[in-house]
Amino acid sequence: MPTSDPIGPISPIGPMGTAVDRPTLHVALVGNPNSGKTSIFNQLTGANQRVANYPGVTVEVTHGRCRRNGLDLQIVDLPGTYSLTANSPEERIARDWLVQNRPDVIVQVIDASNLERSLYLTMQLAELGGRLVIDLNMIDEATQKGIRIDRAGLGEHLRAEVVETVASRGDGIQNLLTTINAAHAREPLDGATLFDFGEDLGRVIGKLSWRLRLAGDSASALPHRWAAIKYAEADAEVRRWLAETVEGGRDIARKTDRELDSLRRRANASIESLIANVRYGKLAAILAETQAQAPSPAPALSTRLDAVFMHKWLGMPLFLLIMAGLFQFVFALGEPLTHGLDWLFHRAAALVQGSMADGPLRSLMVDGLIHGVGGVLIFLPNIVLLFMAIGVLERCGYMARAAFLIDRLMHKIGLHGRSFIPLVTGFGCSVPAIMATRTLEHERDRLATMMVIPLMSCSARLPIYTLLIPAFIPLPWRGPVLLMMYATGIALAVVLVKVLRLTILAGEATPFVMELPPYRMPTLRSVWQDIWSKSALYLRKAGTIILALSILLWAANSYPKKPAYDIDLRPAGLTAAQIDAARRGEDLAHSISGRLGRLMEPAFAPLGFDWRICTALVGAVAAKEVLVAQLGIINAMDDPSSEPGRLQQLLAERYSPLTGVCIMLFALIATPCTSTVAVMRRETNSWKWPLAQFAGLTAIAYVLTFAVYQIGRALGMGV
Ligand code: GDP
Ligand code: MG
Repeated sequence: MPTSDPIGPISPIGPMGTAVDRPTLHVALVGNPNSGKTSIFNQLTGANQRVANYPGVTVEVTHGRCRRNGLDLQIVDLPGTYSLTANSPEERIARDWLVQNRPDVIVQVIDASNLERSLYLTMQLAELGGRLVIDLNMIDEATQKGIRIDRAGLGEHLRAEVVETVASRGDGIQNLLTTINAAHAREPLDGATLFDFGEDLGRVIGKLSWRLRLAGDSASALPHRWAAIKYAEADAEVRRWLAETVEGGRDIARKTDRELDSLRRRANASIESLIANVRYGKLAAILAETQAQAPSPAPALSTRLDAVFMHKWLGMPLFLLIMAGLFQFVFALGEPLTHGLDWLFHRAAALVQGSMADGPLRSLMVDGLIHGVGGVLIFLPNIVLLFMAIGVLERCGYMARAAFLIDRLMHKIGLHGRSFIPLVTGFGCSVPAIMATRTLEHERDRLATMMVIPLMSCSARLPIYTLLIPAFIPLPWRGPVLLMMYATGIALAVVLVKVLRLTILAGEATPFVMELPPYRMPTLRSVWQDIWSKSALYLRKAGTIILALSILLWAANSYPKKPAYDIDLRPAGLTAAQIDAARRGEDLAHSISGRLGRLMEPAFAPLGFDWRICTALVGAVAAKEVLVAQLGIINAMDDPSSEPGRLQQLLAERYSPLTGVCIMLFALIATPCTSTVAVMRRETNSWKWPLAQFAGLTAIAYVLTFAVYQIGRALGMGV
């Protein structure tokens, strides 16, 4: 077989350069958080997974496929991890996946400018055995810092193939593929050949792994030597595994514990520290031999930028300024685009109106679809702009700084900031945000964070704000009011966490440890990815759940029809148009929506809501955007004069600015949507938390909105 073949020996290439059948290679990407795993994954598979410049973004195992150059790779992107000791849920996911699935090739993605921090994991991967490829990613940054790494030396020490990549640009990906294939062609390593734990400890580990081998099939789930090391490290899961699933496991455990005990007494140190010492010793030796760093001439750009952005006094005002600027930008640029779309939909409505006969079908098209779904769709530009801007802040590394700034504040009131990343994710959608809490080590922290995530204004809240703010608020105040809505949610979340942590979730707060990533210039491609993925998500939601609900709402707003109108009994002195309007009003009041709305109205009148708003609030339980859709549908049925901007005009005529603010406030706090309830149920594995959240937040919303409305009225607003 020709070894000069750049793809390596085991990939038969067909006559036309196409691949003929070959085995699928299972490859796992592992590495520290923020080392570029997902960037590599996206490069290899053409996928569009979320990449951001801070740790804790990938919290699930993501699968992808790469068919290139006659290779067929099944690739998984694992959550970031610093070791194979399962400290947090996300680390457990990575480790469990690795030991249970034993991929053909493990690729450790390393931030080459930070080699030392990655090598501890490398040591543990080497203990695991198998075939390891070390990917020195971010080699561009390493070079910039004057770091040089001896690849051949590193490979020799660790018996691994070593490659260099710049994942954000796609450099070296081809070479990585070739190398993965070459690695696959060699014999898998047994961890023992590489790692020597010294005579005493080595003997105990050796004996235990031998006993595991003798235990036969019942012990085959884990690599023996690895399990032995973990057992010696007092790993709770491996201990349970040995006792519960391995034949004669309790016996083995007893013998081994005796040996470990005697060793501990002789060494006068814990076994864990002995093992860690061996690893760190080896790590230091490897580092000394393979890495050289030229003294760097000037302080790095990141350090200089941090002097400003992380400044003790300037930091927080700058953060607020950046956020306010961001929201103003979203409005300034978004509004003309939204108006354009609004105009288009109204043209479409006029066209349908003109070309179809009056009847239920026309009403469904115009009122249900164009004013319902269309009313939601026109806010696409705002959504895209907001997430583009947040994306840029995330990718350049500023968001990680913001987490630190906020943490400083949060510490003062006894909270810790590791929850910040899930909370920021909550601005997009509560569902991934609640999943992102898996990065939190302690159950109490995790629950407290989950409970308040719905208070982060998610992207479905944005259409509500963007509809109502321009209807009631003069132009110069729109950005600040939008910021206020976001800030209200955040402030409420902080208070609520504090209350939870003092009561049902009382306990120590763990310190916040997160590495600050360096500032990085976001690539155009990544900005484009943000735009694309956000639009696709929004359009898909509009085309599925919002569409279905709009049709449902339209039906609820239209039926049952009133058989005879009261107005027809006494039409004297009224114009035809007035009679028409009165009939429409009677129809609406007679419909399911009208009845439900009027049933709810007494309870919500103290909040300033009439029956129309009540029906919109019911729809919002399914998905928050539906509030906008329902307002569009119900008002269009009520007042069919179709012209762009009419809905906002109508709202301004019907309601006071105070009511406008109250609707936004209530929509912000009350009733997490059904997807949120579902994911809460899954992540907490009980109904208790999601139901408490739903009821609790709705109650808080009611009380707060009530207070705002009543105080506002007492002050003479909104009358
Ligand atoms: P993960 O947490 O390991 O999945 O890392 P990501 O793929 O999310 O990347 C973290 C950050 O590093 C993102 O901002 C990427 O754009 C950036 N990044 C990834 N690879 C490189 C690289 O080779 N060079 C540079 N300069 N940045 C990179
Ligand atoms: Mg990732």
